[in-house]
Amino acid sequence: MTDPDCIFCKIVAGEIPSTQVDADEHTIAFMDIAPATRGHVLVIPRRHQPDLLAVDDEDLTASTLMAKRVALRVVDKLGADGVNLLNCCGSAAWQTVFHYHVHVIPRYLDDPARDALKLPWIPTPGDPAEIAAAATQLNG
Ligand code: AMP
Ligand code: ZN
Repeated sequence: MTDPDCIFCKIVAGEIPSTQVDADEHTIAFMDIAPATRGHVLVIPRRHQPDLLAVDDEDLTASTLMAKRVALRVVDKLGADGVNLLNCCGSAAWQTVFHYHVHVIPRYLDDPARDALKLPWIPTPGDPAEIAAAATQLNG
């Protein structure tokens, strides 16, 4: 499973450079070239699958386990105070590279030089009836 036009497949094949920080039989982890915070890493399965809806359970599991391993390392080695794992699935959800991947984003408290991220939404209580309606639709 590989796509000749996919930039991450080219990274897996070593056809374009990446700064790798870990790898195993199923996955590789490398530095994001446009880091959201200091130490931002991407974890990808070696096999091409476009997104969360398509990735098989074995690669999903392997990628999640690798993401946890990298998360432990950014806390231990970079001194991160927390970690966000992010997956964007579909253009509407900000996905730009259509080879499944997990962002491992180290978070640093009160340190705008390393971390200037803000929550992308303003948490406000929702309408209980509308929340229930969505749940009914999901269950249907
Ligand atoms: P997404 O928008 O969730 O699909 O994430 C794609 C990520 O891939 C972005 O954060 C990009 O900065 C990153 N990216 C794109 N090309 C490369 C590359 N050649 N090496 C490392 N990261 C890349
Ligand atoms: Zn690919």
